[in-house]
Amino acid sequence: MKIAFIADSNVGKLARWLRMMGYDALYFDHIEDGELVQIAMRESRVVLTRDTHIMKRRPVSTGQLKVILARSDRTREQLVQVINDLDLDCRTAEFTRCMECNAGLISRQPQDVQGKVPPYVYLTQTQYMQCPSCDRIYWRGTHWQRMKMELEKIDGCRHLNDQAAPKREA
Ligand SMILES: [Zn+2]
Repeated sequence: MKIAFIADSNVGKLARWLRMMGYDALYFDHIEDGELVQIAMRESRVVLTRDTHIMKRRPVSTGQLKVILARSDRTREQLVQVINDLDLDCRTAEFTRCMECNAGLISRQPQDVQGKVPPYVYLTQTQYMQCPSCDRIYWRGTHWQRMKMELEKIDGCRHLNDQAAPKREA
């Protein structure tokens, strides 16, 4: 089963990046530590936080619950840490999840989105995805391409991109 996350209120941008990579990453603006831990336990989610207090919670100190304590306050460095700690697959950087609300996206035909996307987008894009929860429509535009390029620059992702190449002798 694919790894799932719950992000503390202090690492919201990190959750958006993980969603962009196709990972299920819950995030709430305001959530009590206790509730965060409860959801994580119930749904087997890895907790992402900048808050050292969570480390003292019982399920965390006993090792029942996996927590990644982000060392940096910069989103990019946090993402590098998560990718490396969990050996995440960066190749899943496709639209499978809504970056705003984490819902799974649904494939749409161009005729379904006509009038709902800017005309220049409609003329140039053939593949669309839509969020069933907030109705947002996604396509492979410049914003998405920039995010994908950022991901490809991350070291932990590079070895995944090279996996198709023949393995060198150790
Ligand atoms: Zn949405």
